[in-house]
Amino acid sequence: MCRHLGWLGEPVTIASLVLDPPCGLRVQSYAPRRQKHGLINADGWGVGFFDPGGQERSDPGIGPGEVRRWRSASPLWGDVSFASVAPALRSNCIVAAVRSASVGMPIESSASAPFSDGSWLLSHNGVVDRGVLPLSPVAESTVDSALLAALIFDRGPANLGDTIAEVGAADSGARLNIMAANGSRLLATTWGDTLSVLRRSDGVVLASEPYDDHPDWQDIPDRHLVDVSGGQVTLTPLKGSS
Ligand code: GLN
Repeated sequence: MCRHLGWLGEPVTIASLVLDPPCGLRVQSYAPRRQKHGLINADGWGVGFFDPGGQERSDPGIGPGEVRRWRSASPLWGDVSFASVAPALRSNCIVAAVRSASVGMPIESSASAPFSDGSWLLSHNGVVDRGVLPLSPVAESTVDSALLAALIFDRGPANLGDTIAEVGAADSGARLNIMAANGSRLLATTWGDTLSVLRRSDGVVLASEPYDDHPDWQDIPDRHLVDVSGGQVTLTPLKGSS
């Protein structure tokens, strides 16, 4: 089970969220504190963010910025190039993940989250029977998460809650924690694994597990949709929750 993190708020560096915290994704790649499935997350990592500089160059004044991604099939803890550059990468909207590949899934950079359709970044923490997902010509990899991402993009990420409830009904063993962002909105689901929220003065963090011991971290109940936008955090129970 992978670990992931999302940020929406003021621009911050990727290092400040992923590398610097005492129990951030870098540490979670070898010593996660709340992981129930798998011991470490050594099968890759990825970060995606919206780059307002890219947007200014291409389309001034419109949209949330250009999607940028850096993904790898190697452990995050050993990546000295990323450690060198991450303090210089700054964004208001970030999705990052470290990966523990499910049995039988390919280990390649294109199987590491976040996946993207050009407008959204999406990470999946969990596992799903690929037999219940439609074949997709646009999936980035044959990994279950890429097929699930393609389905969510196809249905429209705004319908994330309904799509997850539908997939969860089709595969009762599925774990479907999703993190998705489009530059101005951050969405997440809990379906079988942990998720916590931290409301900071400069923005909101959603993470599979807290990156430090700050008392403001709150756990999200299972089978919920979390919707972060305009500084508000809204929780809604998903269909299929009791
Ligand atoms: N099933 C996905 C994969 O193989 C996600 C795995 C996970 O959450 N550990 O990459």
